[in-house]
Amino acid sequence: MSRYIATRAIRGANALVTEAELMLDKAIKEKGPETPVSFPNTAYYLPLIYGMTGQAIEQLGQLQSVLEHARQLLHPMPSGRHWTPYLGETLDSGMATLLAAETIECVRFIYNLQPEPMPGFQLAGGTAFTSPDNGKDGGMDGHLNGPIDDIQLRSWGIQLVDGRMPGFAAIVGAAKSNEVAVKIVRELQRRNILCFLSGNVNGRSIIHQLNEEGVELGYDTYTVPFGTDTISAIYALGFATRSALTFGGLKAGQARDILLYNRERVFAFVLALGEVDDLKYAAAAGAINFGFPVIADTVIPEILPTGVTRYEHVVSMPFNEIEGKDDLERAERLVQKCIEVRGVKVKVADVPVPVPYGSAFEGEVVRKADMRIEFGGKKSRCFEYLYMAPLDDVTDGKVEVVGPGFDEVASQGSMDMGIVVKVAGRQMQDDFEPVLERQIHYFINGASGIQHIGQRDIAWIRISNGAADKGFNLEHFGKILHARFHADFGAIVDKVQVTIYTEPEKLQEWLTEARSAYDFRNKRLADLTDDKVEEFYSCTLCQSFAPNHVCVVSPERLGLCGAYNWLDCKASFNINPTGPNQPIKLGKSIDTLKGYWEGTNDYAKIGSHGVVQEVAMYSIMENPMTACGCFECIVMLIPEANGVMVVSREDTSMTPAGMTFSTLAGIAGGGLQTPGVMGVGKFYLVSPKFISSDGGFKRVVWMSSVLKETMSDELSAVAEREGDPDLIGKIADDRNVTSVDELLAWMEEHNHPALVMDPIF
Ligand code: SF4
Ligand code: ZN
Repeated sequence: MSRYIATRAIRGANALVTEAELMLDKAIKEKGPETPVSFPNTAYYLPLIYGMTGQAIEQLGQLQSVLEHARQLLHPMPSGRHWTPYLGETLDSGMATLLAAETIECVRFIYNLQPEPMPGFQLAGGTAFTSPDNGKDGGMDGHLNGPIDDIQLRSWGIQLVDGRMPGFAAIVGAAKSNEVAVKIVRELQRRNILCFLSGNVNGRSIIHQLNEEGVELGYDTYTVPFGTDTISAIYALGFATRSALTFGGLKAGQARDILLYNRERVFAFVLALGEVDDLKYAAAAGAINFGFPVIADTVIPEILPTGVTRYEHVVSMPFNEIEGKDDLERAERLVQKCIEVRGVKVKVADVPVPVPYGSAFEGEVVRKADMRIEFGGKKSRCFEYLYMAPLDDVTDGKVEVVGPGFDEVASQGSMDMGIVVKVAGRQMQDDFEPVLERQIHYFINGASGIQHIGQRDIAWIRISNGAADKGFNLEHFGKILHARFHADFGAIVDKVQVTIYTEPEKLQEWLTEARSAYDFRNKRLADLTDDKVEEFYSCTLCQSFAPNHVCVVSPERLGLCGAYNWLDCKASFNINPTGPNQPIKLGKSIDTLKGYWEGTNDYAKIGSHGVVQEVAMYSIMENPMTACGCFECIVMLIPEANGVMVVSREDTSMTPAGMTFSTLAGIAGGGLQTPGVMGVGKFYLVSPKFISSDGGFKRVVWMSSVLKETMSDELSAVAEREGDPDLIGKIADDRNVTSVDELLAWMEEHNHPALVMDPIF
């Protein structure tokens, strides 16, 4: 244990706890101890304090006891020659630092200093779901992100568990140059590692550097700018704490378990760029508590023995001493070192395109002003079609462009395009065609500067000026698809050939062919019902985070994350026969109405390690399926209304149950059966098997308006199916009803069918 580090960490911790005490005192005097405090859109209060101490802080005055606790953790400043430092002192100081830092951030929220204002700054956004509070729309322009909300935590959940997102990097400080800053972040993004950005060196932050270089920052690009001081780095550890509470089923106050969970399962590290001051040492000591090592690009003493962290605790890699022909190569080596030290598991497909490539770019938006050309959208047509062919008919790696490229098209113009992918493989089946075709969206989106929306014949692709300038052309779509299908689906696909059509006649021919295939597949899907198959599939992917949770996936009930339906699971099983998706032979039916089979019950016991004994596929009231943390919606009984409400993950408003999604999620998750509460994938809502044994879709009395809007076609079809074409209009939503009383009045007024249905329990 380096005595030097201990001294500086302890000094930094003392200073920060004192600062927090002063700030809190002042705030209590000015605003009053009962002033409500919270971080936006989280059910975990001030998450680090909540996790570490079990205290649910809701009022300013409650923070006093937190700081008392922090003060107790502080050790006197070491002095004298005989002082022998031990790691415990540094770790305690680190914990005290974290408690103080979260307190300070909380006080800053009261004074509107968080999220930190930054004039002209714009967070990357642009997904279909926007909410004024979650930073995804234009309403958030002009300041940094501040803490990550629960919505985002959960939507990243599935990527964290399936390994697409291997971990996170908390980057603190500023890089040697803007160029190096961009390179470091690009290297991390390329590996799909989340980048949390904070801190500064002499007033300059990596956030400034990236912003100046035009790097899009925000949830959509896996780069979250917390704030330009070191204290805001606390949000990274709040995120880590919430991962343990959300996915690990741990409870507030189980500090030791939460720290261990992170050490074992959350692949994170701290990258300190530039000079390390006392406060940074203290914060680093905080991170070491979580098992997150600290890598610095300056000369600092190292702590190499492995104990608390899996590998080294503190590693110094002075930037100018890194071997490399230039700074860019040094930046690359630095990132490489971080990954080695933390043991982050990374898979990257080598994709031969002239732009950076990785999942972190999937969410990038190409705005009209930055656009070179688009295919599809309002002014042109774009389609994509994947089909299987005999092995001999496919030339692997062949990419052909039939028709002109976009050189002749004016800037910001549009043209028609069809992407036709022909695959062959000994393990390939017809049923996998749509599964693979859907991947085109993710694969193409992975290229920086390319945006892909939609699928089939409503695909819509944009190429940015930046990407076009770097030489991105139509052929590259084929190169991407060839590389990614081999990398991700090599077990079922042996050969991949891609043809890009822009020539009008050929394009039309293929469009007609593609459309008849889409129709055929639609019919096949409609015919694919639970009673027509002999096996369902398990999904245990989330067990890496929620150890006892199993999704049972049937043709009419997809996984609760929305990412895996029955065909996906079947394909996944073929790709990886010992993987997370195993066939569950249904065997003897026990109760067709509620959805019990011998096979599913047996599997539920094994898969949940005995926690769950039976699972009813079609009921929320009796043995409902468990949930991990990444559900798209929560369905919950409203007893007074004789029905259920459906709350979307994107909905931040108050529900009639008196709780927001974030709070409800705490009840629904954790891998336990809770009758009356269920996490579901949103497409299960429109399935004929949706809580069919409890009365089906007519039980829905309230639903988030975002669902009504984004699924309006599907929901109208359900209303028809249920024989009540006006049904959706009879369902209340957040725009008109936020309490049970209002709900009951609404139902009376609109004559909701649940009023006259049998009692739900
Ligand atoms: Fe997790 Fe279920 Fe989705 Fe599988 S289907 S990834 S277990 S939520
Ligand atoms: Zn999950």
